[in-house]
Amino acid sequence: MKTLTIAGGGLAGLGLAHGLRHHAVPVTLHEAARYPRHRVCGEFISGITPETLAALDISGAFDDARRHLDGTWFSEGKKLLEFSLPAPALALSRHLLDARLKLALEAKGGQVEESSRLERQAREGLVWTAGRLPRRGRWIGLKAHVRGLDLGGGLEMHLGGNGYVGLTPVEEDRVNVCGLFRLDSRREGKGPELLLDYLRAGGNGVLAERLTGATFDESSFLGASGFELGWQRGDEALCALGDAAGMIPPFTGNGMTMALESAALAVAPLLRWSRDETGWDETVATIRKDLHRKFARRLTAGSVLHRVLLDKRGAFVARSLAGLGLLPFRPLLAMVR
Ligand SMILES: Cc1cc2nc3c(=O)[nH]c(=O)nc-3n(C[C@H](O)[C@H](O)[C@H](O)COP(=O)(O)OP(=O)(O)OC[C@H]3O[C@@H](n4cnc5c(N)ncnc54)[C@H](O)[C@@H]3O)c2cc1C
Repeated sequence: MKTLTIAGGGLAGLGLAHGLRHHAVPVTLHEAARYPRHRVCGEFISGITPETLAALDISGAFDDARRHLDGTWFSEGKKLLEFSLPAPALALSRHLLDARLKLALEAKGGQVEESSRLERQAREGLVWTAGRLPRRGRWIGLKAHVRGLDLGGGLEMHLGGNGYVGLTPVEEDRVNVCGLFRLDSRREGKGPELLLDYLRAGGNGVLAERLTGATFDESSFLGASGFELGWQRGDEALCALGDAAGMIPPFTGNGMTMALESAALAVAPLLRWSRDETGWDETVATIRKDLHRKFARRLTAGSVLHRVLLDKRGAFVARSLAGLGLLPFRPLLAMVR
């Protein structure tokens, strides 16, 4: 069997490597950083099925993940809507999950090269799972873990005038606080202070005060900017999966699911290539077509809803509908799954 090289050891790369090792395909995964490491991520995985996790042979990594069914949306501090998901969202930190998947991959015979940054190029046998494409973007993602924060009703989503932030209980007594905001050069502060400044500027001062009363894990704070949501255009010949192919707005909690689903759909074509049953160009074309078929509607719906949520009039309509009990949460959720 021919060896696959994977560039990027996030969930798409790790998931793919596991899926391929399940069929005894030799894989070498290159990760630019070292494990364990924090990521800018809300760390709740919504919409994933047990079948996808089983196909990648990674179900066990989620055994002790927290399961969240219920949550509340707030808009600038006011309760908008209580929701219940059709199936529990899984929650655990990327610090723990990615390192766990890396160790399990090595135990299965996968080779992992840390501190190894590959060059972005379309070449036979290389799968690109290195995350969103760096480019000028309008967004900044900020995330930190806090301890000692009480979340009575499960997940919390807070909409503000400049973005949104999610609060997700992960392992131990940690709560992930992760937001996506419009980049604003007037915002200032180091570490978590910057997150608090963005919250206050968006009308979420009450939440900022609540967080000030909790204990930030400063080492978990991260920021990321320089990206755009949606399809990540680029070299047609590149075999890209996960965020490197397309990025759904974070409020959906579906980005990690998409990373794993994209890995799962690529396993069969890559297996055929590894067995010399198909050529590389045909393999890449099949994967691109399957990605488009599976995710086009989801990405379009996510982008429309994201714009509505961040538009003043859109948010007003959403608030009014929610106030009347008329916001169709489940049908809207189904559009981004
Ligand atoms: C603010 C924010 C909040 C989010 N919240 C959620 C959420 O709650 N739920 C959810 O499901 N999704 C969420 N997401 C999206 C989710 O984080 C991504 O969809 C997911 O991480 C994509 O996985 P990936 O493997 O494609 O990319 P990544 O997880 O980004 O992994 C890419 C990896 O490639 C490595 N790398 C980069 N360049 C190279 C190179 N040249 N060579 C080798 N390695 C390289 C990086 O170090 C990284 O480890 C959020 C995103 C943002 C921005």
